[in-house]
Amino acid sequence: MSSTFSMDPGADQLAVRDWLHGFAADVIRPAAAEWDEREETPWPIIQEAAKLGIYSLDFYAQQYFDPSGVGIPIAMEELFWGDAGIGLAIVGTTLAAVAVLANGTDEQIGTWTPQMFGTPDDVKVAAFCSSEPDAGSDVGALRTRAVHDEAKDEWVLNGTKTWATNGGIAAVHVVVASVDPELGTRGHASFVVPPGTPGLSQGQKFKKHGIRASHTAEVVLDGVRVPGSCLLGGKEKLDERLARAREGVRRSGRGNAAMATFEASRPAVGAQAIGIARAAYEVALDYARTREQFGRPIIDNQGVAFQLADMRTRIDAARLLVWRASWMAVNNRPFEAAEGSMSKLYAGETAKFVTAQAMQILGGNGFTREYPVERMHRDSAIYSIFEGTSEIQRLVIARAISGMPIR
Ligand SMILES: Cc1cc2nc3c(=O)[nH]c(=O)nc-3n(C[C@H](O)[C@H](O)[C@H](O)COP(=O)(O)OP(=O)(O)OC[C@H]3O[C@@H](n4cnc5c(N)ncnc54)[C@H](O)[C@@H]3O)c2cc1C
Repeated sequence: MSSTFSMDPGADQLAVRDWLHGFAADVIRPAAAEWDEREETPWPIIQEAAKLGIYSLDFYAQQYFDPSGVGIPIAMEELFWGDAGIGLAIVGTTLAAVAVLANGTDEQIGTWTPQMFGTPDDVKVAAFCSSEPDAGSDVGALRTRAVHDEAKDEWVLNGTKTWATNGGIAAVHVVVASVDPELGTRGHASFVVPPGTPGLSQGQKFKKHGIRASHTAEVVLDGVRVPGSCLLGGKEKLDERLARAREGVRRSGRGNAAMATFEASRPAVGAQAIGIARAAYEVALDYARTREQFGRPIIDNQGVAFQLADMRTRIDAARLLVWRASWMAVNNRPFEAAEGSMSKLYAGETAKFVTAQAMQILGGNGFTREYPVERMHRDSAIYSIFEGTSEIQRLVIARAISGMPIR
């Protein structure tokens, strides 16, 4: 009988966890309130992370390929325990890097991913631009066009992207555009826009409810010309894909492959939400033990203690879902019940629940910026919106478990 099942992270994962926890506690957490107020990208902190190797392609690649599957979730949870806005400012680049890793050729990966991070002395960030004003949950509705100029072997991009994390301040932008609008999502392709390309500019920078240290902006593409080599995956592969789509042929498993990519990245976002939830829970537990009313600590009341019991239970349940999905992804297990979406859905909703409860436990103090749970509550709200809203996660799960085209 095999006894290989284990819930214990290995020594390597624990070492990474402790290292990142130290950085989150010593560098991120003390700076969180300041950068939240400033609503600016915390470049000095990204630079410090780069000097330590925490903001680097190598570090994320190591975690991504960690055979246990929990390298990325552990890293995300610790950084976001420090602060979600600064956490996203540090890891936002990985969204664009993953798009190149998933769709690019080896040469494209080798060329563009290092430029996304820059060097510790000259740090850069990258942006992934898919969403548009009329194409959020409905990605198929995107209008940004990419037209091939065959004479020059260049692609010309026109359109307006919105909600792009690091949009306009990035060195490298990855842009999803339609090359054949009649084919819907099957006519989409991804392009790298190299640093300094004329025609790409930042539109409105959004003032946000939470994660305010992370830059979010529109990106305007006005006659942006990129070389043919910037089409991720290459022209030959695109032409084959479009020909199949025009003939109405669906390569078996093709949809599943795209779904598997999304499913595999969602647990990482869930882990960020768990980091926020755990941080708020710890503040609330500590407060409940020390705050006295009616001559005893407020945690002596079951009403408060049970709240904390529920908070902790939901955090642990969310982490188990995230780790399961991450383990499945690294072991190529099929996501038959959309387990990646489940983990993101539950972790995102847990972060909102736990941070709201934490504010309640802190009473009036919880409602002020003197204590961090107010910021954590604001930060948590994005976790039921970006990377697929909670409703879209439910849609994906419902379709997966039923096999029905639920709308
Ligand atoms: C801070 C921030 C950072 C972001 N970063 C990026 C980024 O880096 N790159 C990027 O490309 N995008 C990014 N996004 C965009 C994000 O992914 C979208 O906001 C999200 O997908 C939702 O799209 P929407 O805002 O257009 O909402 P809509 O799609 O308009 O949805 C509005 C509401 O309707 C619901 N709804 C829509 N369709 C259905 C349906 N079929 N069934 C049930 N309910 C439905 C939604 O769940 C939601 O509650 C970011 C957004 C924010 C706010």
